[in-house]
Amino acid sequence: MKRIPVYLLALILLGVGGGLAYFLMKDMEGPSIRISPDNGKAGATQEITVYMYDEGSEVKSVNISVRKNNVSSHLLSHTFDPPAKEAQFSFTLENAKLRDGSFELEVKANDTSMAGFGKGNSTTRLFEMRYDSVPPRLSVRTAPPYIYRGGAGCIAFTANEELAAAGVKVNELFFPAYRQDNGEYICFFAFPYNVEMKDYKPVITAQDLAGNIVTSRLAHYPLARNFRTDTINLSDNFLESKDGEFTELVPGNMTPLQRYLVVNGDIRRENDVKLLEFGKQSADTMLWSGTFARLPNASSPAGFAEFRSYVYNGELVDQQTHLGSDLASVRQAAIPAANDGVVIFTGYMGIYGEMVLIDHGLGLQTLYSHMSNIHVSPGDIVSKGQTIGQTGATGMAGGDHLHFGVYVSGFPVNPIEWFDAQWIRDKITDRLRLPGEAIQ
Ligand SMILES: [Zn+2]
Repeated sequence: MKRIPVYLLALILLGVGGGLAYFLMKDMEGPSIRISPDNGKAGATQEITVYMYDEGSEVKSVNISVRKNNVSSHLLSHTFDPPAKEAQFSFTLENAKLRDGSFELEVKANDTSMAGFGKGNSTTRLFEMRYDSVPPRLSVRTAPPYIYRGGAGCIAFTANEELAAAGVKVNELFFPAYRQDNGEYICFFAFPYNVEMKDYKPVITAQDLAGNIVTSRLAHYPLARNFRTDTINLSDNFLESKDGEFTELVPGNMTPLQRYLVVNGDIRRENDVKLLEFGKQSADTMLWSGTFARLPNASSPAGFAEFRSYVYNGELVDQQTHLGSDLASVRQAAIPAANDGVVIFTGYMGIYGEMVLIDHGLGLQTLYSHMSNIHVSPGDIVSKGQTIGQTGATGMAGGDHLHFGVYVSGFPVNPIEWFDAQWIRDKITDRLRLPGEAIQ
Protein backbone atom coordinates (compact mmCIF):
# COMPACT_ATOMS: atom_id res chain seq x y z
CA MET A 1 0.00 0.00 0.00
CA LYS A 2 1.26 3.35 -0.95
CA ARG A 3 1.82 5.76 1.88
CA ILE A 4 -0.45 8.80 1.88
CA PRO A 5 1.70 11.91 1.87
CA VAL A 6 1.49 13.87 5.10
CA TYR A 7 0.45 17.07 3.41
CA LEU A 8 -2.50 15.28 1.76
CA LEU A 9 -3.60 13.84 5.11
CA ALA A 10 -3.40 17.27 6.65
CA LEU A 11 -5.49 18.70 3.83
CA ILE A 12 -8.12 15.96 4.22
CA LEU A 13 -8.30 16.52 7.99
CA LEU A 14 -8.57 20.24 7.48
CA GLY A 15 -11.37 19.72 5.00
CA VAL A 16 -13.35 17.39 7.24
CA GLY A 17 -12.74 19.58 10.27
CA GLY A 18 -13.72 22.68 8.36
CA GLY A 19 -16.90 21.09 7.10
CA LEU A 20 -17.81 19.95 10.58
CA ALA A 21 -17.03 23.37 11.99
CA TYR A 22 -19.16 24.93 9.28
CA PHE A 23 -22.17 22.81 10.21
CA LEU A 24 -21.61 23.44 13.89
CA MET A 25 -21.27 27.16 13.26
CA LYS A 26 -24.42 27.13 11.20
CA ASP A 27 -26.23 25.47 14.06
CA MET A 28 -24.63 27.86 16.54
CA GLU A 29 -26.33 30.91 15.19
CA GLY A 30 -29.41 32.42 16.79
CA PRO A 31 -32.18 34.22 14.92
CA SER A 32 -31.52 37.52 13.15
CA ILE A 33 -33.37 40.45 14.72
CA ARG A 34 -34.60 43.78 13.42
CA ILE A 35 -37.19 46.25 14.68
CA SER A 36 -39.62 48.63 13.02
CA PRO A 37 -39.82 51.58 13.23
CA ASP A 38 -36.06 51.78 13.69
CA ASN A 39 -35.59 55.54 14.05
CA GLY A 40 -34.15 55.49 17.57
CA LYS A 41 -37.25 57.06 19.11
CA ALA A 42 -40.19 55.67 21.02
CA GLY A 43 -43.06 56.93 23.11
CA ALA A 44 -45.58 55.07 25.25
CA THR A 45 -48.11 54.32 22.54
CA GLN A 46 -45.78 53.68 19.60
CA GLU A 47 -46.11 50.09 18.47
CA ILE A 48 -42.70 48.49 17.96
CA THR A 49 -42.50 45.29 15.92
CA VAL A 50 -39.61 42.83 16.21
CA TYR A 51 -38.93 40.77 13.09
CA MET A 52 -36.91 37.56 13.56
CA TYR A 53 -35.60 34.99 11.12
CA ASP A 54 -33.70 31.80 11.89
CA GLU A 55 -31.47 30.24 9.24
CA GLY A 56 -30.58 26.91 10.97
CA SER A 57 -33.81 26.07 12.77
CA GLU A 58 -36.88 28.04 13.91
CA VAL A 59 -37.61 30.99 16.18
CA LYS A 60 -38.88 29.73 19.54
CA SER A 61 -39.21 32.75 21.82
CA VAL A 62 -38.43 36.42 22.31
CA ASN A 63 -37.55 38.41 25.43
CA ILE A 64 -37.75 42.16 25.63
CA SER A 65 -36.05 44.26 28.29
CA VAL A 66 -35.22 47.90 28.73
CA ARG A 67 -31.88 49.05 30.08
CA LYS A 68 -31.26 52.37 31.69
CA ASN A 69 -28.06 53.31 33.55
CA ASN A 70 -26.89 49.69 33.08
CA VAL A 71 -29.90 48.35 34.95
CA SER A 72 -31.90 45.93 32.85
CA SER A 73 -35.59 45.37 33.57
CA HIS A 74 -37.62 42.68 31.91
CA LEU A 75 -40.63 43.95 29.98
CA LEU A 76 -42.21 41.11 27.99
CA SER A 77 -41.65 37.54 26.81
CA HIS A 78 -43.38 35.63 24.11
CA THR A 79 -43.16 31.98 23.01
CA PHE A 80 -44.09 31.15 19.45
CA ASP A 81 -46.42 28.18 19.22
CA PRO A 82 -45.67 26.63 16.82
CA PRO A 83 -42.12 27.92 16.28
CA ALA A 84 -41.52 29.49 12.86
CA LYS A 85 -38.59 30.33 10.58
CA GLU A 86 -39.92 33.88 10.37
CA ALA A 87 -41.61 35.36 13.41
CA GLN A 88 -42.78 38.80 14.47
CA PHE A 89 -43.92 40.28 17.73
CA SER A 90 -45.39 43.73 18.45
CA PHE A 91 -45.41 45.61 21.72
CA THR A 92 -45.48 49.07 23.25
CA LEU A 93 -43.39 50.59 26.05
CA GLU A 94 -46.53 51.48 28.00
CA ASN A 95 -45.52 49.37 31.02
CA ALA A 96 -41.79 50.09 30.81
CA LYS A 97 -41.94 52.91 33.40
CA LEU A 98 -39.49 54.95 31.37
CA ARG A 99 -38.83 58.64 31.73
CA ASP A 100 -37.88 60.88 28.81
CA GLY A 101 -34.27 60.38 27.79
CA SER A 102 -32.00 57.72 26.37
CA PHE A 103 -32.29 54.02 27.11
CA GLU A 104 -31.42 50.73 25.47
CA LEU A 105 -33.95 48.28 24.15
CA GLU A 106 -32.67 44.73 24.58
CA VAL A 107 -34.21 42.09 22.32
CA LYS A 108 -33.22 38.46 22.85
CA ALA A 109 -34.50 35.75 20.49
CA ASN A 110 -34.07 31.97 20.94
CA ASP A 111 -34.25 29.24 18.33
CA THR A 112 -35.29 25.58 18.46
CA SER A 113 -31.87 24.06 17.61
CA MET A 114 -30.34 21.37 19.83
CA ALA A 115 -27.20 23.43 20.44
CA GLY A 116 -26.09 24.06 24.02
CA PHE A 117 -27.50 20.67 25.19
CA GLY A 118 -30.96 21.52 23.90
CA LYS A 119 -31.10 25.08 25.17
CA GLY A 120 -30.94 26.39 21.61
CA ASN A 121 -29.06 29.37 20.26
CA SER A 122 -29.92 32.89 21.15
CA THR A 123 -29.20 36.32 19.71
CA THR A 124 -29.28 39.51 21.72
CA ARG A 125 -29.47 42.91 20.09
CA LEU A 126 -29.29 46.25 21.79
CA PHE A 127 -30.98 49.27 20.26
CA GLU A 128 -29.94 52.75 21.38
CA MET A 129 -33.21 54.61 21.86
CA ARG A 130 -34.62 57.84 23.15
CA TYR A 131 -37.87 57.79 25.09
CA ASP A 132 -40.06 60.74 24.17
CA SER A 133 -43.52 61.18 25.66
CA VAL A 134 -44.11 64.76 24.49
CA PRO A 135 -46.39 65.27 21.48
CA PRO A 136 -45.16 67.63 18.74
CA ARG A 137 -46.13 71.30 18.94
CA LEU A 138 -47.56 72.84 15.80
CA SER A 139 -47.86 76.48 14.83
CA VAL A 140 -50.28 77.26 12.05
CA ARG A 141 -48.91 80.09 9.95
CA THR A 142 -51.91 80.81 7.74
CA ALA A 143 -54.88 82.90 8.89
CA PRO A 144 -58.16 81.04 9.45
CA PRO A 145 -59.59 80.43 5.97
CA TYR A 146 -63.13 80.50 4.74
CA ILE A 147 -64.09 77.30 3.06
CA TYR A 148 -67.22 76.52 1.10
CA ARG A 149 -68.99 73.21 1.38
CA GLY A 150 -67.70 71.10 -1.53
CA GLY A 151 -64.65 73.35 -1.83
CA ALA A 152 -61.01 73.25 -0.86
CA GLY A 153 -58.74 75.07 1.56
CA CYS A 154 -55.10 75.05 2.50
CA ILE A 155 -53.01 75.60 5.60
CA ALA A 156 -49.30 75.91 6.28
CA PHE A 157 -47.77 75.01 9.61
CA THR A 158 -44.48 74.26 11.29
CA ALA A 159 -43.62 71.72 13.97
CA ASN A 160 -41.03 71.89 16.74
CA GLU A 161 -39.66 68.45 15.83
CA GLU A 162 -39.48 66.05 12.91
CA LEU A 163 -42.83 64.44 12.03
CA ALA A 164 -43.62 60.95 10.82
CA ALA A 165 -47.02 62.06 9.47
CA ALA A 166 -49.23 65.13 9.49
CA GLY A 167 -52.35 66.40 7.84
CA VAL A 168 -55.97 67.44 8.19
CA LYS A 169 -58.57 64.90 9.20
CA VAL A 170 -62.14 65.62 8.17
CA ASN A 171 -64.48 63.06 9.69
CA GLU A 172 -63.17 59.77 8.23
CA LEU A 173 -61.09 61.40 5.47
CA PHE A 174 -57.39 62.19 5.82
CA PHE A 175 -55.60 64.84 3.77
CA PRO A 176 -51.81 64.52 4.17
CA ALA A 177 -49.57 67.54 4.61
CA TYR A 178 -46.39 67.77 2.54
CA ARG A 179 -43.12 68.88 4.09
CA GLN A 180 -41.38 71.65 2.12
CA ASP A 181 -37.65 72.42 1.89
CA ASN A 182 -38.02 75.31 4.35
CA GLY A 183 -39.34 72.88 6.96
CA GLU A 184 -42.93 74.05 6.62
CA TYR A 185 -45.85 71.67 6.06
CA ILE A 186 -48.52 72.50 3.47
CA CYS A 187 -51.86 70.74 3.43
CA PHE A 188 -54.72 71.00 0.95
CA PHE A 189 -57.99 69.68 2.32
CA ALA A 190 -61.68 69.59 1.45
CA PHE A 191 -64.96 70.44 3.08
CA PRO A 192 -66.55 67.32 1.59
CA TYR A 193 -69.63 67.96 -0.56
CA ASN A 194 -71.38 65.07 1.21
CA VAL A 195 -70.83 66.40 4.77
CA GLU A 196 -73.44 68.72 6.28
CA MET A 197 -72.37 72.01 7.92
CA LYS A 198 -73.17 70.72 11.41
CA ASP A 199 -71.13 67.53 10.89
CA TYR A 200 -68.03 69.18 9.45
CA LYS A 201 -65.28 68.85 12.09
CA PRO A 202 -61.79 69.22 10.62
CA VAL A 203 -58.74 68.75 12.85
CA ILE A 204 -55.02 69.12 12.28
CA THR A 205 -53.15 66.05 13.35
CA ALA A 206 -49.44 65.24 13.53
CA GLN A 207 -47.40 62.33 14.77
CA ASP A 208 -43.74 62.55 15.78
CA LEU A 209 -41.08 59.87 15.29
CA ALA A 210 -41.78 58.51 18.79
CA GLY A 211 -45.43 57.98 17.88
CA ASN A 212 -46.85 60.85 19.97
CA ILE A 213 -49.90 62.38 18.34
CA VAL A 214 -51.23 65.91 18.61
CA THR A 215 -54.71 66.76 17.38
CA SER A 216 -56.14 70.25 17.40
CA ARG A 217 -59.24 71.86 15.97
CA LEU A 218 -58.71 73.64 12.70
CA ALA A 219 -59.83 77.22 13.28
CA HIS A 220 -61.68 78.41 10.20
CA TYR A 221 -65.05 79.42 8.86
CA PRO A 222 -67.14 76.93 6.93
CA LEU A 223 -69.68 78.42 4.56
CA ALA A 224 -72.82 76.74 3.28
CA ARG A 225 -73.31 75.95 -0.37
CA ASN A 226 -76.21 74.06 -1.83
CA PHE A 227 -76.02 71.98 -4.95
CA ARG A 228 -78.44 71.58 -7.81
CA THR A 229 -80.57 68.53 -8.35
CA ASP A 230 -81.32 67.15 -11.77
CA THR A 231 -83.36 64.41 -13.37
CA ILE A 232 -81.91 62.33 -16.18
CA ASN A 233 -84.38 60.45 -18.34
CA LEU A 234 -82.92 57.21 -19.66
CA SER A 235 -84.34 56.38 -23.09
CA ASP A 236 -84.05 52.95 -24.71
CA ASN A 237 -82.26 54.63 -27.61
CA PHE A 238 -79.60 56.06 -25.33
CA LEU A 239 -79.18 52.85 -23.28
CA GLU A 240 -78.76 50.77 -26.44
CA SER A 241 -76.23 53.21 -27.89
CA LYS A 242 -74.06 52.74 -24.75
CA ASP A 243 -74.58 48.99 -24.32
CA GLY A 244 -71.79 47.89 -26.68
CA GLU A 245 -69.18 49.99 -24.86
CA PHE A 246 -70.43 48.96 -21.41
CA THR A 247 -70.50 45.22 -22.28
CA GLU A 248 -66.69 45.35 -22.28
CA LEU A 249 -66.81 46.68 -18.72
CA VAL A 250 -69.64 44.48 -17.47
CA PRO A 251 -70.01 41.36 -19.62
CA GLY A 252 -72.91 38.97 -19.17
CA ASN A 253 -76.49 38.53 -20.17
CA MET A 254 -78.52 41.50 -18.96
CA THR A 255 -80.71 44.26 -20.32
CA PRO A 256 -79.05 47.54 -21.38
CA LEU A 257 -80.71 49.21 -18.36
CA GLN A 258 -79.34 46.61 -15.92
CA ARG A 259 -75.85 46.98 -17.39
CA TYR A 260 -76.08 50.79 -17.27
CA LEU A 261 -77.03 50.65 -13.58
CA VAL A 262 -74.07 48.36 -12.75
CA VAL A 263 -71.70 50.82 -14.48
CA ASN A 264 -73.37 53.84 -12.83
CA GLY A 265 -73.14 52.20 -9.39
CA ASP A 266 -70.47 49.50 -8.90
CA ILE A 267 -68.05 50.72 -11.59
CA ARG A 268 -68.43 54.34 -10.40
CA ARG A 269 -67.44 53.28 -6.86
CA GLU A 270 -64.47 51.25 -8.20
CA ASN A 271 -63.34 54.36 -10.10
CA ASP A 272 -63.62 56.49 -6.93
CA VAL A 273 -61.36 54.03 -5.07
CA LYS A 274 -58.83 54.17 -7.92
CA LEU A 275 -58.81 57.99 -7.85
CA LEU A 276 -58.25 57.90 -4.09
CA GLU A 277 -55.18 55.70 -4.74
CA PHE A 278 -53.88 58.08 -7.44
CA GLY A 279 -54.34 60.89 -4.91
CA LYS A 280 -51.60 59.34 -2.79
CA GLN A 281 -49.14 59.45 -5.71
CA SER A 282 -48.55 63.16 -5.75
CA ALA A 283 -45.38 65.26 -6.03
CA ASP A 284 -44.24 66.80 -2.74
CA THR A 285 -43.82 70.26 -4.24
CA MET A 286 -46.35 72.57 -5.84
CA LEU A 287 -46.04 72.22 -9.62
CA TRP A 288 -48.73 74.73 -10.61
CA SER A 289 -49.23 78.49 -10.46
CA GLY A 290 -52.09 80.92 -10.99
CA THR A 291 -55.61 80.29 -12.20
CA PHE A 292 -56.58 76.95 -13.73
CA ALA A 293 -57.46 77.01 -17.43
CA ARG A 294 -61.02 76.16 -18.38
CA LEU A 295 -62.08 74.60 -21.70
CA PRO A 296 -62.44 77.74 -23.88
CA ASN A 297 -65.83 78.93 -25.14
CA ALA A 298 -67.68 76.23 -23.26
CA SER A 299 -71.10 76.24 -21.63
CA SER A 300 -71.55 74.33 -18.41
CA PRO A 301 -74.48 71.94 -18.70
CA ALA A 302 -73.80 70.37 -15.29
CA GLY A 303 -72.04 71.49 -12.15
CA PHE A 304 -70.23 69.98 -9.21
CA ALA A 305 -72.08 67.86 -6.65
CA GLU A 306 -75.28 67.98 -8.67
CA PHE A 307 -77.57 65.29 -7.27
CA ARG A 308 -78.98 63.27 -10.11
CA SER A 309 -82.08 61.13 -10.20
CA TYR A 310 -82.21 58.65 -13.06
CA VAL A 311 -85.67 57.90 -14.43
CA TYR A 312 -86.63 55.08 -16.79
CA ASN A 313 -90.20 54.75 -18.10
CA GLY A 314 -91.38 57.19 -15.44
CA GLU A 315 -89.74 55.23 -12.62
CA LEU A 316 -86.83 56.30 -10.40
CA VAL A 317 -84.09 53.70 -11.04
CA ASP A 318 -80.91 55.28 -9.60
CA GLN A 319 -79.45 58.30 -7.78
CA GLN A 320 -75.82 59.50 -7.98
CA THR A 321 -73.80 62.64 -7.35
CA HIS A 322 -71.96 64.31 -10.23
CA LEU A 323 -68.44 65.09 -9.03
CA GLY A 324 -67.04 67.48 -11.62
CA SER A 325 -67.91 70.33 -13.99
CA ASP A 326 -69.28 69.43 -17.39
CA LEU A 327 -68.02 71.78 -20.10
CA ALA A 328 -69.42 71.60 -23.62
CA SER A 329 -67.89 73.30 -26.64
CA VAL A 330 -67.71 72.08 -30.24
CA ARG A 331 -67.30 68.37 -30.98
CA GLN A 332 -63.76 67.10 -30.48
CA ALA A 333 -62.64 70.41 -29.01
CA ALA A 334 -58.97 70.69 -28.01
CA ILE A 335 -58.61 70.22 -24.23
CA PRO A 336 -56.00 72.39 -22.48
CA ALA A 337 -54.09 71.13 -19.45
CA ALA A 338 -55.58 73.25 -16.65
CA ASN A 339 -52.19 73.94 -15.13
CA ASP A 340 -48.58 72.76 -15.06
CA GLY A 341 -48.09 69.21 -13.85
CA VAL A 342 -47.18 65.64 -14.62
CA VAL A 343 -49.52 63.17 -16.34
CA ILE A 344 -50.09 60.21 -14.02
CA PHE A 345 -52.76 58.23 -15.87
CA THR A 346 -54.12 57.99 -19.39
CA GLY A 347 -56.58 55.44 -20.73
CA TYR A 348 -60.05 54.01 -20.34
CA MET A 349 -61.49 54.01 -16.82
CA GLY A 350 -65.13 53.06 -16.25
CA ILE A 351 -67.63 55.92 -16.14
CA TYR A 352 -64.93 58.39 -17.19
CA GLY A 353 -64.25 56.57 -20.48
CA GLU A 354 -61.00 57.73 -22.08
CA MET A 355 -59.40 59.98 -19.48
CA VAL A 356 -56.27 61.84 -18.42
CA LEU A 357 -55.24 62.54 -14.82
CA ILE A 358 -52.66 65.28 -14.18
CA ASP A 359 -50.82 65.66 -10.90
CA HIS A 360 -50.08 69.24 -9.78
CA GLY A 361 -48.32 68.29 -6.53
CA LEU A 362 -49.24 68.39 -2.83
CA GLY A 363 -52.20 66.09 -3.53
CA LEU A 364 -53.85 68.36 -6.12
CA GLN A 365 -54.89 66.60 -9.35
CA THR A 366 -57.13 67.36 -12.33
CA LEU A 367 -59.18 64.86 -14.30
CA TYR A 368 -60.28 65.14 -17.96
CA SER A 369 -62.80 62.59 -19.11
CA HIS A 370 -65.09 61.30 -21.90
CA MET A 371 -62.24 62.10 -24.34
CA SER A 372 -62.15 60.99 -27.97
CA ASN A 373 -58.38 61.38 -28.37
CA ILE A 374 -55.49 61.47 -25.92
CA HIS A 375 -52.23 63.18 -26.90
CA VAL A 376 -50.19 62.58 -23.72
CA SER A 377 -48.75 59.61 -21.82
CA PRO A 378 -48.07 58.90 -18.14
CA GLY A 379 -44.88 60.64 -17.02
CA ASP A 380 -45.26 63.52 -19.51
CA ILE A 381 -44.62 66.95 -18.06
CA VAL A 382 -47.36 69.30 -19.28
CA SER A 383 -47.72 73.04 -19.07
CA LYS A 384 -50.84 75.13 -18.63
CA GLY A 385 -52.80 75.43 -21.86
CA GLN A 386 -51.02 72.60 -23.64
CA THR A 387 -53.46 70.45 -25.64
CA ILE A 388 -53.69 67.03 -23.99
CA GLY A 389 -56.42 65.59 -26.23
CA GLN A 390 -59.91 66.18 -27.57
CA THR A 391 -63.39 66.05 -26.09
CA GLY A 392 -65.69 63.13 -26.84
CA ALA A 393 -68.48 61.03 -25.37
CA THR A 394 -66.71 57.90 -24.08
CA GLY A 395 -67.80 56.42 -20.74
CA MET A 396 -70.91 57.67 -18.94
CA ALA A 397 -71.61 60.53 -21.35
CA GLY A 398 -74.65 61.35 -23.42
CA GLY A 399 -72.99 63.78 -25.83
CA ASP A 400 -69.62 65.29 -26.67
CA HIS A 401 -68.31 67.27 -23.66
CA LEU A 402 -65.47 67.48 -21.18
CA HIS A 403 -66.08 66.28 -17.66
CA PHE A 404 -63.48 68.18 -15.65
CA GLY A 405 -62.66 67.16 -12.10
CA VAL A 406 -60.39 68.59 -9.40
CA TYR A 407 -59.20 66.25 -6.66
CA VAL A 408 -57.48 66.94 -3.36
CA SER A 409 -55.67 63.80 -2.19
CA GLY A 410 -58.08 61.77 -4.31
CA PHE A 411 -61.23 63.47 -3.02
CA PRO A 412 -63.32 65.54 -5.46
CA VAL A 413 -63.70 69.29 -4.86
CA ASN A 414 -65.56 72.04 -6.68
CA PRO A 415 -63.64 72.93 -9.89
CA ILE A 416 -65.14 76.44 -10.22
CA GLU A 417 -62.97 77.70 -7.35
CA TRP A 418 -59.84 76.85 -9.34
CA PHE A 419 -61.04 78.85 -12.39
CA ASP A 420 -61.38 81.94 -10.17
CA ALA A 421 -58.26 84.16 -10.01
CA GLN A 422 -59.53 86.00 -6.93
CA TRP A 423 -60.18 82.77 -5.05
CA ILE A 424 -56.75 81.34 -6.00
CA ARG A 425 -55.10 84.50 -4.67
CA ASP A 426 -57.13 84.95 -1.50
CA LYS A 427 -57.47 81.34 -0.46
CA ILE A 428 -54.27 79.75 -1.72
CA THR A 429 -51.34 81.75 -3.07
CA ASP A 430 -51.54 84.81 -0.76
CA ARG A 431 -52.18 82.50 2.14
CA LEU A 432 -49.05 80.53 1.31
CA ARG A 433 -47.21 83.72 0.23
CA LEU A 434 -46.67 82.28 -3.22
CA PRO A 435 -46.56 84.38 -6.38
CA GLY A 436 -50.15 85.06 -7.42
CA GLU A 437 -51.58 86.21 -10.70
CA ALA A 438 -53.13 89.52 -11.69
CA ILE A 439 -56.91 89.55 -11.75
CA GLN A 440 -58.16 90.33 -15.23
ZN1 LIG B 1 -69.77 65.08 -15.96
